[in-house]
Formats: sequence, C-alpha cells, structure tokens
Amino acid sequence: MYPLSSSTLTLAEPKTEYGSKNYQWVEVLVDCPYAEGLYTYAIGDEMEVKAGDILSVPFGNSVVGAIALKLVSKPPETLEIDQIKTVEDVITSGFFPPRYWELLTKVSEYYLTDLIYVIKCALPPKLLGKSQKRVRLLFDNIPQGAENFCPPMAWRVLQLLQNSKNGDYTFSYINQKVKGARRGINDLVKRDWVQTYLQPPAKAKPKYLKVVTFISENSATTITQKQRDVLAILKTNGGELSQPDLMQKCELNSNSVINSLAKKGCVVIQERESLRLLQNSAPKKDLPKVLTEEQQCAFEKISGLQGFNISLLHGVTGSGKTEVYLRAIAPILAEKKSALVLVPEIGLTPQLTDRFRARFGQQVCVYHSGLSDGERYDTWRQMLTGEPQVVIGTRSAIFAPLPNLGMIILDEEHDTSFKQSQPAPPYHAKTVAQWRAELVNCPLILGSATPSLESWQLATQGQNSPESEQKKYYLSLPNRVYNRPLPPVQIVDMRHELRKGNRSIFSHALGNALGNLKEEGKQAILFISRRGHSTFVSCRSCGYVMECPHCDVSLSYHYPKEGATQLLRCHYCNHTQIHPKNCPECGSPYLKFFGTGTQKVLLELQKAFPELKILRFDSDTTSTKNAHRRILEDFEAGKADVLIGTQMLTKGIDLAQVTLVGVVSADGLLFHSDYRASERAFQTLTQVAGRAGRGDDPGQVIIQTYSPEHPVIGAVQTHNYSAFIATELEQREALDYPPYGSLILLKCTGADGNKVREAVEAIADVCEQILPDDVEILGPAPANVMRVARRYRWQILLKSLEPFSHELKQQLLTLKQYCPSMVSFNIDVDPIRIE
Ligand code: ADP
Ligand code: ZN
Ligand code: ZN
Repeated sequence: MYPLSSSTLTLAEPKTEYGSKNYQWVEVLVDCPYAEGLYTYAIGDEMEVKAGDILSVPFGNSVVGAIALKLVSKPPETLEIDQIKTVEDVITSGFFPPRYWELLTKVSEYYLTDLIYVIKCALPPKLLGKSQKRVRLLFDNIPQGAENFCPPMAWRVLQLLQNSKNGDYTFSYINQKVKGARRGINDLVKRDWVQTYLQPPAKAKPKYLKVVTFISENSATTITQKQRDVLAILKTNGGELSQPDLMQKCELNSNSVINSLAKKGCVVIQERESLRLLQNSAPKKDLPKVLTEEQQCAFEKISGLQGFNISLLHGVTGSGKTEVYLRAIAPILAEKKSALVLVPEIGLTPQLTDRFRARFGQQVCVYHSGLSDGERYDTWRQMLTGEPQVVIGTRSAIFAPLPNLGMIILDEEHDTSFKQSQPAPPYHAKTVAQWRAELVNCPLILGSATPSLESWQLATQGQNSPESEQKKYYLSLPNRVYNRPLPPVQIVDMRHELRKGNRSIFSHALGNALGNLKEEGKQAILFISRRGHSTFVSCRSCGYVMECPHCDVSLSYHYPKEGATQLLRCHYCNHTQIHPKNCPECGSPYLKFFGTGTQKVLLELQKAFPELKILRFDSDTTSTKNAHRRILEDFEAGKADVLIGTQMLTKGIDLAQVTLVGVVSADGLLFHSDYRASERAFQTLTQVAGRAGRGDDPGQVIIQTYSPEHPVIGAVQTHNYSAFIATELEQREALDYPPYGSLILLKCTGADGNKVREAVEAIADVCEQILPDDVEILGPAPANVMRVARRYRWQILLKSLEPFSHELKQQLLTLKQYCPSMVSFNIDVDPIRIE
C-alpha cells in the first residue's frame, strides 16, 4: 500500500467485466485525509472484487473505507509483493452505473479536485463513513503490569476495553465514556496493544410495510356496515392502500376490522419492502394538456432529436415550459429509460414535484440534500435498480446513479445555485450535465425565461453551423399560454416619493395596490433582497456602526415580530448577540436602523394594512423540513393575502391568484462590483415580475428604486431580454469575460492577515513567471469582505481568452506549496461570484 503519484491514475475501462478471477491486485482510493493517489492491495482468494466496490482496507494502524478503482494483474514494480496488504472486506458492491467513473474523473480533472472528494460529493452522505470505526484489544500483545508504564489516558481506555465482554467497542462509545480518549487510543495503537478497524454497515435494513389490497365484496356472506365503509374507502383509493394509511382514512384505532375482512376474503394483506422515499401526498392524476402551437413546435423539435445534443428552451415566464418537459419525458419512460430533472432550490421542488407526480405517479423520485441520510441512501438504491423513472433534484443530483439515462433537463438553467463554490469540487451542474449527456449520448435541455449569457451564446451560435453537425438548438416560447399578457411593469422613483413627503417604505402606487387587494380578493407577492429587519444599526450621536467581531461586515438587526427579542446577527458567520440599549462607543441611547429587510417590511405592512394576512418566506422561516411546502401551500390555499420573501420567491412559483408583485427596493440588486451583477439583477427582477398574472386575471408589477435610470431597470420594464443581452454581451466581449474568456480564481485564506498576504503575493509572483502572456493576472486583492469568521481572504483572478489548458491547470495545483500550513489555498475553476 504505497502511494503512486496521482498522475498515474487510470480507471477501469467502462463496461468491461472486471471479475477479479484473473486479477490478484486492486488499486483503490482510501477515505483518509492526506492519503492522496492510488494504493495497491491484494485480493484474498475467497474474495470477489469489482471496480466501483466499496471496501475496507488496512491502512497504517487502522482499517478505513476505500473504493476499488481498477483491478490489475501485476502489482507496480516499485512494490515488494510481501509488502502488499490484503483487502479486508467488500462492504458494498454494484454501486455505480456504467460510464459513471469517467464522469467523476472528468470532474476531478477539470475542477482540479482529488477524485476522492468528487466521489464524496457524488455519493449519498456518510456512505463511506457508514462503516463504523471500532477499537479492539490485541490481548496477546499486552504485557503484565501494563498499567505501570501506560499514560493515564491510555490506561483508562485500556481498562474500559478490558472490562468489556470481548475487548471491543466502537470508537464513539469509548469517546463518550472517556473524555479525550482519542489521544489514549492513539497511544495504545502505537504500542500495538489495540487495533482500530471498520465494521461494515449492517446490511441496510429494508423497511417493510403492510399493504391492503381489495379483492371482492361478494365473497363474504355477512359484512358489517363498518367493514363495508372500509371497503368503499379502499376502492375509491385505487383498491390499494398501506395499512396505516387505510386505518387513518377510516379512522380505525386497531386493525381488527381489516383483519376480519382479510379472513372473509374481501381483502389481502401483504408485506412489502418499502424504501424510505419521500412520497408525500399523492396528487390528483393530471393528463397531458393540448399544447399551444409554440409548445407543440418545441416539443416536436425535441422529440425528433437523436443522441447527444443541447437545446435551450427560452420561454417567457408562464409560457408552459414545464408542460414541454413533461411531454418530452413521456416517450423516454416508454422506452424504459430514465430522465433527470435538475432544479435550483428545494423551495421550488414541492410544486414542480407535484406536477410531475400528477403526470407520472410513483415513477417520480426526489433527491436533494433536504432528505435524511436514510432517505438519500434508499433513493440511491432505488435509482440503481434501473427501473425507468424521473429523478428530480438539486445540484448534486447530476450525480444520480441512473443506469439508463435518456434525457437531462436543467430547469431555470440561469440559476447560480447550480454552481458549488465550497467544498471542492467547485463544479457547475450545467457543465457536468453536458459531459454526462455526451457520455451517455442523450439530449440535454436547458430551460429558462432569462437564459444565462453562456447558454444563449452556445445555443444561438449552434444555429450557424451546418445542419448535419448541429448539436445545439435554440427553441423559443415567446408568449404565455392562452396568450395571457406579460404583466405591465411600473417603475417608481423613490426620490420622487421622498420629495412629495412620503417617508414610508411603500410608494403611493404600491400602497394603493396593496390597499385594494382585500376588496378584489387577490393575492400579492412582495420581494425584498434581504432578510432580517435592518441591514445595519448606527449610533445617531457618534456614528458608530455595530460590526461583527469576526467579520468585516455590519451586523443585521433581527426583530421578527412585535415583542420579540431584539437581536443583532451576522449574515456571514451567523454570530448573534442581543441588541444593546446604548451605543457601546458613547453610551447614547439613540440607535438608528438602516436598510430594509423582510421583517421590517412585514412589520410596516401590518401597521399600514392591519386587515391583510401576511406570510414570510425567507431562509429564516424555511429552515425546518417541509417548511417551504407548508408556507406555499398555506398561501395557495388563501390563508394569507401577501407573501413577503427574498430570492426564493423568484424560483418558479406558479400561483394563479397572484396578480400583484411589488419589489420594495431594487437597489440592493443593482450595485455589485461583480461582473455578473447586471445579469443576475435582470434575471431576479424578471423572474419575480413573472410571478404576477399567471391565472385568468391580469397581473401588475411595481418596482421601487432610487435609480430608475439603471439599464437593468429599463430592460425589465420593457421585458426586453434580447436588447439587454446584446449590450451585456458587448461589454463582456470587450473585457474578455465569460462567455468569451475563461476565469480561474485563486483564493488564500487564513487567520493571520500578514501571512495570507505574503502567501498570495508570492503566488502572484510565481504566476507572473509560469503563466503565458495571454493569461491576465488580476490582483492579488482582498475579497470584498476581507475578513469572515476571523479569517482573512485574498484572491487572484486569472483571465484568459483561450480556455485554460490541462497542463496549465496542473501547474496551478503546484502553487499550493507557496502557502504555509496556516494559510489555505483554493482554486475555483469558472467562478461565478467574484466578491
Ligand atoms: P413556465 O414554467 O414557463 O413559467 P408553467 O409550465 O409553469 O410555465 O406554465 C404556466 C401555467 O400554464 C401552468 O399553470 C400550466 O399548468 C399552464 N399550462 C401550461 N401549458 C398549458 C397548455 N398547453 N394549456 C393549458 N394550460 C397550460
Ligand atoms: Zn455612539
Ligand atoms: Zn460574522
């Protein structure tokens, strides 16, 4: 088990049957920090190992999890055969679909991240860690009178193990019993008195569920009214329900009625394996709609495409993109293949998932980080069965192990949450989706009302290549269904309001519209880009601003409702403190709040319109499981008149009763130093405006701003995507920014500001020497907020008109050596936020 350099990393050929019969050795990746590269192990005679198996292997003095990458018939020449240790056990087999390794390797190479971290990002959490770490006594090695020359901590661990039944406990149990046991265990391991090892997980226990199926009413001669009721309910539910569901629906306290029905032959009760899949309410069955002419056109184009290709489905908000996805997926399922649908955020999934379930029923499954570990594990296994299915998930679902993938769809493809910035790999799900679609030779559909500049560029350029080579298509839905108009957008100049003496956060126009809401029986959405009450607090006497002790930012004031505790909270590190009564600097009691957040809008709205019922939808109110779904369902059921929220509101919410959309302040979106700020602001405002007037009643949008002359505001008002994108592309081209050029961001962080700065300067010097002239080096410069959670952050931006070559990227990896151990070094390939 000696490391080879990671450059020798080669993978098993895809689809090759690699039984271990002819191969005595296996190259593995071990799950151990700092153990980079491949290690070679011997395969025991009795053992069957395949590439992709999860193993436990001896490593140093312990046993760790590992993944088999490649079987080899000869160990590397640098190794003596008798030095090679043997694989201890195969923990799980058959966990990866074909070509999956190629995808992971590509991610690893492109994003300059060790394969093991890519694997960890792709696998359900704790799969490698699911094996339990245990410690066992090596009885024969312990000398007489060990206590006399054993340090106290080690002695306590030793005693604990000696008093146990077989000298064997889990690591975490020992840690619980003996505070600081880790040091003691390490000491005992060094002496060779104990050994740590990994216990394979208990075979994932399937959960069983009793299912009651209707057989016949007539087979029984006598049947009670109660029993008749139960049968009736069973029949109206498709003739089959789980026993708990049936009992609940019939309000039964025991299963005796069901059991007697079974005895009479009216129903059968069967045990069935139930995977812990997130299957909420079964929505009503939904049939395909008659497509509009434009939808039909897009659908026909998509269904005529063969093999790998990319289509951008550019449809204005409410144009019925989802219906096109649904229709495109149906034939894929009929061919016994699966489809993968990626969406930006959990907040969006409940409604979308319901629409998919209503169409495809149980064939839909959901995969995202909001699931429990057990649910994720089960969903993963369910996907591997190869049954045709639709998987809906967020970013990491691009790694869903579907063996027969027939189509990938990215909905709201412009959304920045498809890019992971930390931890590594810093992948973009859209980029990975392209690779995956190409590898498995299936179509990729990117859908959006406000396509990213990259996708627009890609799809519209593709139009110019000859038909035979063309793999990129631009499909457009320029109108809403039923030719509903896009809502008119009114821009309100807040400077004007102030001059007229209106100091409220609601302009005259927005106030009026909100005032009419109740009477008209309509609903409104109010968008505000920040959560909390106020973005900063400052002393009126001396000007002191409350700042986070750990970050270079001001603290936000949190005051969710009248009478709540007043708090100050850091939105970077979550540091929280009680809001002081007096200025910590001068003692003055006159503290003033600046900048408006969701809580303040809610309080002001309550004050101005006490008759309106309000719900708040931001990350503070949606942190618990299913909170997104609950709030949206309550709002849809008319339990509130106004929904106030942040960015989350922009993501695909489709509510017919919403006629009014108000943007309380657009200014928070308009002014960022980032090169993508305008694109993001345009997308956010257009998306939020698109929530209005999706039903039969026409919508209305009011945007309040202090900068009505900003080009983004003009473009949003006129719904003029193409004009906006044309100017934006010109600016990007002039400066070689994406989609024209490529970017790599080098980041140094550490607790010692001087050390970080020295390191980043040294790295910049080396960059000057090693990088070709056509790579522009911007910086080093401190990040926008230089210190976050007590760590200083500096960065260097590399910009190149040509894509960065593999060799050049490999060179960047070597820059790490210029960082002392106290400074961490990160590389973000294709960064999308440079702040
Ligand atoms: P988008 O995703 O483009 O914003 P949706 O797919 O949410 O739009 O469609 C908007 C609304 O129009 C939805 O309520 C949907 O059910 C409805 N819809 C879509 N296509 C049709 C159609 N062909 N006929 C009738 N209603 C449709
Ligand atoms: Zn003061
Ligand atoms: Zn902080």
